[in-house]
Amino acid sequence: MEANCLFCKIIRGDIPASKVFEDEVCLAFKDINPQAPIHVLLVPKLHVDSLAMTDGSHESMLGALMSRARDLAASLGVAAEGYRLVVNTNRDGGQTVFHLHVHLLAGRSFIFPPG
Ligand code: 5GP
Ligand code: ZN
Repeated sequence: MEANCLFCKIIRGDIPASKVFEDEVCLAFKDINPQAPIHVLLVPKLHVDSLAMTDGSHESMLGALMSRARDLAASLGVAAEGYRLVVNTNRDGGQTVFHLHVHLLAGRSFIFPPG
């Protein structure tokens, strides 16, 4: 836990968020500025700045994040229609909150490549 990290504060309950899923490894909550009809952020409870800061010791947590994202999409009813997972990483990746997170976007079609 990082004292001044926004997502650590949400995990601790210091800042409110619209939670959609929680287990021992991660928390999922609605993005405050949704870019699609469904826009959920999936964050590990362990603070890591970005994907670039992970290593082999994070492998099970990273695997859990992907599995939870898949299950979340299924429980939200968007698996068949489809969805997009995004992990913005560091400056050029457009990351603005430096606590690793996976965006789950769904409910509309997306183009590729993104801007
Ligand atoms: P990034 O640009 O780092 O990949 O994504 C950060 C995301 O966090 C953005 O989509 C932004 O809308 C979202 N966000 C920023 N502050 C808050 C907040 O206080 N609460 C919630 N729920 N989402 C936030
Ligand atoms: Zn954090």
